[in-house]
Amino acid sequence: MSIESAAAKPAESPETYAPRDFIRQIVREDLTRGKHAAIRTRFPPEPNGYLHIGHAKAICLDFGIAREFGGWCNLRLDDTNPGKEDPEFVEGIKDDVRWLGYEWHDLRHASDYFEVFYRAALKLIEDGHAYVDDLTAEQLREYRGTLTEPGRHSPFRDRSVEENLDLFRRMRAGEFADGSKTLRARIDMGSGNINLRDPAIYRIRKVTHQNTGDAWPIYPMYDYAHCLSDALEGITHSLCTLEFEDHRPLYDWFVDNVDLPNHPELWQHMREAGFRTEPAKPRQIEFSRLNLSYSITSKRKLAQLVNEGLVDGWDDPRMNTLRGLRRRGFTPGGIRLLIERLGVSKQNSVIDYAIFENCVREDLDASAARRMAVIDPLKLVITNLPEGHEETLSFSNHPKDESFGTRQVPFSREVWIERDDFAEVPPKGFHRLKPDGEVRLRGVGIVKCEHIVKGADGSVTEVHGTLDLESRSGMPGAERKVKGTIHWVSAKHGVAADIRLYDRLFNVATPDDESDGKRWTDHINPEAKRIVRGWLEPAAAQAAPEQRYQFERLGYFVADRLDHRADAPVFNRTVTLRDTWARQAG
Ligand code: ATP
Ligand code: MG
Repeated sequence: MSIESAAAKPAESPETYAPRDFIRQIVREDLTRGKHAAIRTRFPPEPNGYLHIGHAKAICLDFGIAREFGGWCNLRLDDTNPGKEDPEFVEGIKDDVRWLGYEWHDLRHASDYFEVFYRAALKLIEDGHAYVDDLTAEQLREYRGTLTEPGRHSPFRDRSVEENLDLFRRMRAGEFADGSKTLRARIDMGSGNINLRDPAIYRIRKVTHQNTGDAWPIYPMYDYAHCLSDALEGITHSLCTLEFEDHRPLYDWFVDNVDLPNHPELWQHMREAGFRTEPAKPRQIEFSRLNLSYSITSKRKLAQLVNEGLVDGWDDPRMNTLRGLRRRGFTPGGIRLLIERLGVSKQNSVIDYAIFENCVREDLDASAARRMAVIDPLKLVITNLPEGHEETLSFSNHPKDESFGTRQVPFSREVWIERDDFAEVPPKGFHRLKPDGEVRLRGVGIVKCEHIVKGADGSVTEVHGTLDLESRSGMPGAERKVKGTIHWVSAKHGVAADIRLYDRLFNVATPDDESDGKRWTDHINPEAKRIVRGWLEPAAAQAAPEQRYQFERLGYFVADRLDHRADAPVFNRTVTLRDTWARQAG
């Protein structure tokens, strides 16, 4: 799968696809009444892990809305936490956003703005809106109060502007030890909203930063850096998840009190250095997170799976990171379809994983060519064909779409069929191969089982049958009906392949729920990865890495991005053709 073909292909045509959720409603109204000339959004991940399926919702909203309304979206790495962040994740995030089909206007880092944040803090001090506090972290917590009790004023709250300016400049110069001083906003210790009880703006941390090195011994807090980054970039609609709802008053407080648009002295140097900036007053709007059943959508827990070796890495196909889903064969179109279907609201909910799988099936049904593969092989010998018989059959690549064309499939006297397509003692209603029974070999004709060969342990090792030559294509008996049709791979021509059969990583719908006393890692599904040795028709083996197919009757599969080679094929099962979990859960 190349990135180009993923790009910009809406799951529905733009004419019919016009979501009207509350965020788009706000955006539409703002544009209609001329509040903004254009829509500007940003996607602001912290580079402390790879993106997961939850982030896809934020990406589709931030980039999607900007695109729909003719605006732009920045990719901004929120790198205010040195030490926890890694350049590897930055590259991964860029890759994943592009894979989903989006391109950013500017790539920014919160750390690009450290000087602006610093100047803005000096301005807040000068205006009497911020002070340096010497309370320890523990004292700060204690002074903050609780949900039911107001906070108390710090004894350092009334320091003079001059003293505060001096102390803060010395914090910046590296004169004080980590944690010994904090710059705080002077707002309201009695506020019912704890976020407004003189929150920290800067803390001292002598840690090397991946972008700014040792230039800064102080680092800004998220609430402060985030809203000012938005304002500086001229973001009009700052979309985020519901847990930030209570932070919005603080967001607005910083934006209003720093007032970047009217204070170019705070950011003029950025323009001179070549940064495009047009500061504005952004509006924060919250929406509900995407939660999926049978999944984890927390970077911390995903990191734990990787670090404890419970999976094979961030891109393990069992992971619901975007890289994992990609390696598993999930499509950008299927992921975008899920996000469109779910819509946007402020209602928190857990989405059934089956809905996600169905979106991916829907996308793959239309986009994946068909091939034949056998993953649990049993040999079928067609005894009425001459030894050495072989021929080439023409198969259509897609039953519903002629534009996929046709391919040549070699056929010979011995073929592989699925072990479970044969039953010596068939259950009631079994319409595949059984002793003295008939079945259609897909594209070949009708075969009758005449004889079973068994190994020393009594297991069936071969099935012998005869092909009704009158039932072959073009012959008078070709229309004769039998109940079952099975797929096959010519034993002489088949290419041996590793087939990785993946399934859901957790075997319960809500692994996060630890109320039963079990840890979430106890719910890892040991059956989520099985590797079998199967056979592919030659045209499947020739796949390019990331090429996706429907293997007939088995499911959707993808040639592994990293391990697949035409002479040593490796395919991952993306999803079965039908939901196999509903039955078990129901
Ligand atoms: P995590 O809790 O997994 O660490 P996070 O929210 O800390 O996630 P960020 O890197 O800060 O991760 O997220 C970047 C953006 O993606 C934020 O705007 C955040 O609101 C959004 N986001 C994160 N998780 C989800 C989710 N499950 N559904 C929708 N949006 C999400
Ligand atoms: Mg976060």
